[in-house]
Amino acid sequence: MRYSGFRVIAEALTGHKGWKPLWRDPDPKAAYDYVIVGGGGHGLATAYYLAKEFKQARIAVLEKGYLGGGNVGRNTTIIRSNYLLDGNEPFYEFSLKLWEGLEQDFNYNAMVSQRGIINLIHTDAQRDAFTRRANAMVLHGADAEMLNRDQVKALYPFLNFDNARFPIKGAIAQKRGGTVRHDAVAWGYARGADQRGVDLIQNCEVIGMRIENGRILGVETTRGHIGAGKVGVAVAGASSRVMDHAGMRLPIESHVLQAFVSEGLKPLIDGVMTFGAGHFYVSQSDKGGLVFGGDIDGYNSYAQRGNLPVIEDVAEGGMALMPMLGRARLLRAWGGIMDMSMDGSPIIDKTDIDGLYFNGGWCYGGFKATPASGWCFAHLLARDEPHPKAAAYRFDRFAKGLMIDEKGQGATPNLH
Ligand SMILES: Cc1cc2nc3c(=O)[nH]c(=O)nc-3n(C[C@H](O)[C@H](O)[C@H](O)COP(=O)(O)OP(=O)(O)OC[C@H]3O[C@@H](n4cnc5c(N)ncnc54)[C@H](O)[C@@H]3O)c2cc1C
Repeated sequence: MRYSGFRVIAEALTGHKGWKPLWRDPDPKAAYDYVIVGGGGHGLATAYYLAKEFKQARIAVLEKGYLGGGNVGRNTTIIRSNYLLDGNEPFYEFSLKLWEGLEQDFNYNAMVSQRGIINLIHTDAQRDAFTRRANAMVLHGADAEMLNRDQVKALYPFLNFDNARFPIKGAIAQKRGGTVRHDAVAWGYARGADQRGVDLIQNCEVIGMRIENGRILGVETTRGHIGAGKVGVAVAGASSRVMDHAGMRLPIESHVLQAFVSEGLKPLIDGVMTFGAGHFYVSQSDKGGLVFGGDIDGYNSYAQRGNLPVIEDVAEGGMALMPMLGRARLLRAWGGIMDMSMDGSPIIDKTDIDGLYFNGGWCYGGFKATPASGWCFAHLLARDEPHPKAAAYRFDRFAKGLMIDEKGQGATPNLH
């Protein structure tokens, strides 16, 4: 079924009886050419592009819970491509360009909203660093703009510009950044993949891998053995657990990241804003809630819930920037498990086991990467060679000392 304005009108006139489920609920087959482990944004996007762009068939996505129940449906929905380093910026700009055409591509309303993002500057040294980043972005074909204090004031006059510790001196802006309704991304990719024959199998946890003579033959699941020509693992916070089934230890730790939503308020913040002197960032949802977050909880965990010290830390960051935030009530908070890589950048690579491929290490920034990650992982699976935009995301960079130590706007693990 193709969605369109005409369809909405036709259904409205006929009692909405024609809408179909977004995807089938098939039983697993004995074997597939491609098995993707993990039905989050990255796994679903990989299956979608494998079928659509790389014309592959006999594909299954195995999800231990329900589609979109992981980080893809738990994040704070920010998309941007304001990175600094060569290994990262072209990849994230590729992703932002895919976001720009995504809704037409998969024929689903994901509420892609390029409302702009600004990162605030609080010191002269920070202005130098952000100017360098803006130049790097522009050289890679992305958009970036430096704002002075008055320009920021014109956007958000209520900010605490003269805070004695964290005065606001300007910002780096990316107007094409913004937000996307996160779970609609999972649903759009799932529907698009299903329409192209991909089997989306929920409540199917991978609990083992069948590997013989250095080659993967399939996976053991809670719904039995499923044979596979190639297996692509994209399980985010569960990366180390799943790859343990193949006897692999990863340069990845799992940490909790929390998100918060205030009660609904009148329109206040029309873009995305990050505090440059601590961990706090905020946007406002279409329903009026301020959506904000901050730092990871700071110790290893597989729990999808967070703890009070970080709530206090995030609230302090928010109050330093917008003192009136103290009057708003917090409505909801939740947590997700982050796959923190040791240089803050991801991995999209083959493993030493024939037919086994890995996608992970997204830290707390993998939502914006979803389209490019799916595309590049599908490229790797279908063609057995890395996509040029993701060529730096290799396992051996840690052994060779070629870390992509992003100091622009990625995770900086040694600072946590
Ligand atoms: C609070 C929070 C805020 C964030 N904010 C942003 C943001 O603003 N912008 C941004 O770019 N990124 C953000 N992120 C990060 C982003 O959400 C993640 O990096 C990204 O979603 C991870 O990829 P995914 O969607 O594939 O992960 P997931 O949705 O977690 O998908 C992985 C799936 O694998 C499944 N799985 C696990 N183990 C198994 C198994 N054994 N067998 C089968 N399936 C299994 C899980 O159930 C899960 O559904 C945020 C994350 C959190 C938690």
